[in-house]
Amino acid sequence: MSAGRLAVVGAGTMGHGIAYVAAVAGFDVCLTDSRADALPLALGRLTDLLAVAVRRGKLAEPDRAAAAGRLRTEPQLAPAVSGAQVVIEAVREHLGAKQQLFAELERDAPPDALLATNTSSLSITDIAAAVREPGRVVGMHFFNPVHAMKLVEVVTHPKAAADSVQRAVALARALGKEPIVVQDSPGFASSRLGLALGLEAMRMLEQGVASAEDIDKAMELGYSHPMGPLKLSDLVGLDVRLAIAESLHQALEEPQFEPPQILRDKVAKGELGKKSGKGFYTWSG
Ligand code: NAD
Repeated sequence: MSAGRLAVVGAGTMGHGIAYVAAVAGFDVCLTDSRADALPLALGRLTDLLAVAVRRGKLAEPDRAAAAGRLRTEPQLAPAVSGAQVVIEAVREHLGAKQQLFAELERDAPPDALLATNTSSLSITDIAAAVREPGRVVGMHFFNPVHAMKLVEVVTHPKAAADSVQRAVALARALGKEPIVVQDSPGFASSRLGLALGLEAMRMLEQGVASAEDIDKAMELGYSHPMGPLKLSDLVGLDVRLAIAESLHQALEEPQFEPPQILRDKVAKGELGKKSGKGFYTWSG
């Protein structure tokens, strides 16, 4: 029996990951994207994810086949979302693009469908302002890679209906995730807290308190963090961290979010972390 009908708009890094966990959880999933080549690419990635899950013993072969059978792609938005009980948006991080899409979703999706956005930094209130019934819009912030990361931030806002928040919480659990409920505020809970720790670690390195390795070990061994804040910053990308710090500093006007000079200097030199081969650490491969 199907767990329900779910549409995912945007078939990139996050969209294909959300489609994967939903299909494995028993939902009939329709994935759509405005770019012609995105859907075959996403289907290939989904096929690979399912095959790896079988190889690792996480999925039995009949369950893989059933999940694959529940996944379909559709290039046009209207047929993709018609009949959906939930639509999860995972298109590019641009307020105008998301607002236009939500206005289209209000036109094309069933009137009782929950409309969720996977934005990582935009205001849910602003996205919801694009529809006549903002009560049906919530944030569902998944983490990358979606199949491996347990957390979903369910982001509520002043006009969200209590029922929409409850539906998002229940959906996150049905997808095998652990939801937390967060008010719409810059950086939600995860980015705000994670960034505060990362920026403080950079200031400590700047002041010569300890080496990068030892600052990271303080959190890894003293607080059981799987990875220290400087290593994590290198993985996320120092340019990405700088952009988020600047936007949180501007929005919250709190000194802990002011980007440290060491971060600005590294980004200016092109030391962006793992992707450029050097950040707080030297990376190879
Ligand atoms: P991505 O660039 O990998 O994929 C976005 C996809 O959306 C592309 O395939 C693009 O063609 C498609 N698209 C753009 N506009 C569209 C439209 N109007 N209609 C349909 N499809 C459209 O991006 P991503 O990394 O998957 O990020 C998607 C969203 O998820 C963003 O809001 C981002 O902030 C958020 N997010 C990303 C991460 C991450 O680590 N990548 C983590 C959490 C949340």
